[in-house]
Amino acid sequence: MTGYRGRFSPSPTGPLHAGSLVAALASWLDARAHNGRWLVRMEDVDTPRCVPDSDQFILQQLKSCGLIPDELPVWQSQRTTLYQAALDDLTAHGLAYPCACTRSEIQAELVRAGHAHTRHGELIYPGTCRQGLRGQAARAWRFLSNQPPRPTVWLDRRLGPQSQDVEKEVGDFVLQRADGIAAYQLAVVVDDAAQGISHVVRGQDLADNTARQILLQQALGLSTPQYLHTPLVVGVNGEKLSKQNGAQPLNTSDPLQALNAAATVLGLQVSATNLSNWLVQATAQWAKRQAPHEAGL
Ligand code: GLU
Repeated sequence: MTGYRGRFSPSPTGPLHAGSLVAALASWLDARAHNGRWLVRMEDVDTPRCVPDSDQFILQQLKSCGLIPDELPVWQSQRTTLYQAALDDLTAHGLAYPCACTRSEIQAELVRAGHAHTRHGELIYPGTCRQGLRGQAARAWRFLSNQPPRPTVWLDRRLGPQSQDVEKEVGDFVLQRADGIAAYQLAVVVDDAAQGISHVVRGQDLADNTARQILLQQALGLSTPQYLHTPLVVGVNGEKLSKQNGAQPLNTSDPLQALNAAATVLGLQVSATNLSNWLVQATAQWAKRQAPHEAGL
């Protein structure tokens, strides 16, 4: 028996592509290598972005590759009361506050303060509504990111020591959007804790969210899982493979071809030619590689 619980959490905005299979496979292998359990969570909280039936399609794609969850999948769209309860808890502790600012107001405030830079196209919120709404109506809810007022540090199993000063580098981030939908950061932290996730294995593009998630875990009195961020598959433009830059839906009519491509990204070389042997061999290779930070990955 082991306390290991891992997960793969796709957003059902379309079918899996070669890049998403890398994260799915790595999280599955890590769970198997630790004799743990592997769960699938559909991150469909942002309902307007979801594509009908792509959740079932993704589950089918995973199954074709032999990646079958150990428990019934959960859907975030059915868990909104949990997110609201967490937001209420943060608000009661003075760690979440309503914000009335529109994007153009935030932009104007940043220009006034001489901080017109953005981060990944996002504005770094200057904390305008920390002191109250000035009679305006609340739009979104934000997290008070300066408690504690120091950088958040963590050890990524592949990337090594990481540090981010969330208040300075990200600002007070959104917990609940103006349309009432829980933000990814809040939903993922609530669900990882509710599902008892001990190890998060996901794509490196998400590494930058980890400090925010750790701050939220601390604010909600939740434990922090171990994190491992996997290498990304890049598209023709050199950026992370995504639907926007031409990623094709994963073709699972030849699952071994798809799995071999994903394994190569993870630095594995598996020679087996039938699916169950392939998965056994890949798990054994992954298990051998439990070095500090797993630099070979
Ligand atoms: N739903 C996110 C995505 O598809 C993954 C979130 C996570 O693994 O924390 O990019």
